[in-house]
Amino acid sequence: MEQHYGRAVLIEAVREAVAAERQAILAGAVPAPSAPRIIDRVRQRLAEQNGAGLRRVLNLTGTVLHTNLGRSPLPEAAIEAMAAAARGGTNLEYDLETGRRGDRDTHLTSLICRLTGAEAATVVNNNAAAVLLVLNTLALRREVIVSRGELVEIGGAFRIPDVMARAGARLREVGTTNRTHSADYVSAITSRTAALLKVHTSNYRIVGFTAGVDECEVAAIAHEHGLPFIVDLGSGSLVDLAQYGLPPEPTVAETVSSGADVVTFSGDKLLGGPQAGLIAGRRDLIARIRRNPLWRALRCDKVTIAALESVLRLYLEPQRLASDLPALRLLSRRKFEIEAVARELAPAFEDALDRFARVEVVGCTSQIGSGAMPIEVLPSAGLRLTPGSRRNATGLSASRLAGLLRGLPVPVIGRIQSGSVVLDFRCLEDGRELAAQLPALKRAVHSRGTAGPA
Ligand SMILES: *Cc1c(COP(=O)(O)O)cnc(C)c1O
Repeated sequence: MEQHYGRAVLIEAVREAVAAERQAILAGAVPAPSAPRIIDRVRQRLAEQNGAGLRRVLNLTGTVLHTNLGRSPLPEAAIEAMAAAARGGTNLEYDLETGRRGDRDTHLTSLICRLTGAEAATVVNNNAAAVLLVLNTLALRREVIVSRGELVEIGGAFRIPDVMARAGARLREVGTTNRTHSADYVSAITSRTAALLKVHTSNYRIVGFTAGVDECEVAAIAHEHGLPFIVDLGSGSLVDLAQYGLPPEPTVAETVSSGADVVTFSGDKLLGGPQAGLIAGRRDLIARIRRNPLWRALRCDKVTIAALESVLRLYLEPQRLASDLPALRLLSRRKFEIEAVARELAPAFEDALDRFARVEVVGCTSQIGSGAMPIEVLPSAGLRLTPGSRRNATGLSASRLAGLLRGLPVPVIGRIQSGSVVLDFRCLEDGRELAAQLPALKRAVHSRGTAGPA
């Protein structure tokens, strides 16, 4: 703690914590706290006062690519590549053969082209940046035709109409929320049209009386009129996920081969890499995108490029992906494997929570997250912690218990479900770290009367 916060801050926090305990003892019949209890208090105080900073947490929410928890975990090889790039100089924009200035995209373009079948590619900060940059390059002060069924809001203030406005492009909506036909696209095309856009409705489904126009058809319409066809795939997978027992999601290669001229997708969704926005497509269009001054403002840093390169290399050996790419490994974990971890940890949880909460191994369902495949769920397992049938005796509620879990040295994030805290173990491959925290949970639960996180 001293290393992290500095000595002066630590001493102050210890003094405050001791003073608070002293006050509590003087004010009522509270027993003297144990040393570990005071240390927990100090830790908590430091975290509160210092805004905690960016910390590792255990994602037991059941949402694998959880945007608020940092989306995709990275493979070890990528982490090593990031550390190596961070440590010193790299040939980021330096051609080692000629000794001249190079281009940061060169480390990635051939990999992306190989994996998507596209002619050219570039990479920016995230997919939102990719969409902004593509529209600004290809449609400034002109119109982009989009189906009304695809005017997506992703969350975190990414709305297609707003992004389009900021990109300086004019939105030309066609069709209706549930039905859009090819004639709708055709009749909207004028001399002001710059492009046709399809947005993958990643985080919702329109079901029932619906009609859409598939990518091949929109591409054909665009090309008949000499217009580029842009696809924002959102998650965009590089491999067919069905082979890993996952629900199918359109692959980038399929979209490219169906005639899309520019495709954008995220690095940290189903791809399983670092935050990045990948743009793949026709050589002439990518060249224009690269010349846009906004590209310079939206480009990736060397650490991201190192990680992305390493992750894309894993895709060259698809048979190893399911074991080497953590996002895919977690998504394709089977229920029985997950349940085994839950069974292993259950007794230690029972000990920590003894009379305060009932502990059960339960089946539950995980989600992919990041808006990918919003309907499909993955069968999973975990622990359900239900605060006492004698709630009055213990005064512990589910939200209080969830708060205590969040207050652990490595915060544990679960979800609250009808009066219980459910911990989905899909993203917990090794239970040891969680087990090591259970003594702290036990102390927190037992001494919660005096204070503790709400
Ligand atoms: C997620 C998503 C985005 C934004 O991607 P980020 O990488 O989060 O910036 C844009 N469009 C669609 C369709 C998405 O699903």
